[in-house]
Amino acid sequence: MSPLRYRRIVLKLSGEVLAGERGFGINPPVLDALSDEILAICGTGVELGLVVGGGNILRGATASEQGTDRVAADYMGMLSTVINAMALQDQLERRGLETRLLTAIRMDQVAEPYIRRRAVRHLERGRVILLAGGTGNPYFSTDTTAVLRAIEIGAEAIIKATKVDGIYTADPSEDPDAELIEQISYREVLEQDLRVMDSTAVTMAKENNLPILVFNIHRAGAVQGILAGEAIRNELATVRTGKAAPSLLDLVKVDAYGQQMPLNQLASVTAPEPRLLVISPFDPTQMAAIEKALLASDLGLTPANDGKVIRLPIPPLTEERRKDLVRVTHKIAEEGRVAVRNIRHDANKKIHASQKAGDMSEDEMHRQLKQVQDITDKHIQTIDEMLARKEKEVMEV
Ligand code: UDP
Repeated sequence: MSPLRYRRIVLKLSGEVLAGERGFGINPPVLDALSDEILAICGTGVELGLVVGGGNILRGATASEQGTDRVAADYMGMLSTVINAMALQDQLERRGLETRLLTAIRMDQVAEPYIRRRAVRHLERGRVILLAGGTGNPYFSTDTTAVLRAIEIGAEAIIKATKVDGIYTADPSEDPDAELIEQISYREVLEQDLRVMDSTAVTMAKENNLPILVFNIHRAGAVQGILAGEAIRNELATVRTGKAAPSLLDLVKVDAYGQQMPLNQLASVTAPEPRLLVISPFDPTQMAAIEKALLASDLGLTPANDGKVIRLPIPPLTEERRKDLVRVTHKIAEEGRVAVRNIRHDANKKIHASQKAGDMSEDEMHRQLKQVQDITDKHIQTIDEMLARKEKEVMEV
């Protein structure tokens, strides 16, 4: 198993993140640290699309409150994302990454126009793509852009950079009782009005089943840690036990509409009975393609198609199979722990190097090393918890 399950992701960086403490403009040390982090993410082999915001320069809503026409202000906001993306592109190329800047508003002297097929081609060739200019339409945000582009280019998840460790019940900088939420549904985010992303973006992610992973931009290795943890979550979810769980089919890809699409974007998957999955294609013409993909997957299950839905009975496990599965789940968890420790190793190396080069005080170094250890512990604990849950499921008769 590769420690990184995701093949292609979109990273959303808001302008605020680029601004650092000052809150506006581009902060060079922050840009540097961010570029190092992006380089490390690319080093894991994942294909990366970056959607860059512009709030550190201009936000349409704010400018319009101050008297600029809203549509003009939004275009100004979109242009500000291009400035950020150019700064980031320069730093990434200095680090030896091959990049392409694609904009939703044409500006031939500095960027290629955004064309979906071209964007995908760049990714396939190992280039990082920077997607700027938002959607090219006023009244949208770059969060919505990130979701839209992720869906268009077939990314498997969005990683959203923030200044905190994840989603909290309240703003942790204002409320000391705010608690970190490990996992939450899109519906709850919308109902509780948690400001992870704006509601248009969350709704669109929900409708397209696109996971949003939130990470702390100020922690070295945080993205890789999250990706490793998620990889394990996915890997464990697809280990088939005797229980019918829709997540079993999370990794099934279907040859549809001329591309490889995740099954859960083509059909709804439910478990109406403990040992039965029912797959209802959104488009009935895709029935045969879905059935073929199920047969070709290594799940070892036999689909039955009645012309309307596909039924997938899950046979009970033998005692021997259960023991095998426990071994498999332990192996997956151990690979995850190793991946997380490798990330810790790389992050620590960077911190030591930066202290040696005189960019960081000794106190700051210790503070950051401790942060890395804390986040390592947290990820390993999450892996252990996921393992325990899966083991219990395997042993349930
Ligand atoms: N914007 C827009 N349409 C889009 C994306 C962005 O009009 O599709 C404008 C909008 O005015 C927004 C500004 O660009 O305020 C900067 O984007 P955003 O506020 O999303 O940046 P972030 O908060 O991520 O820094």
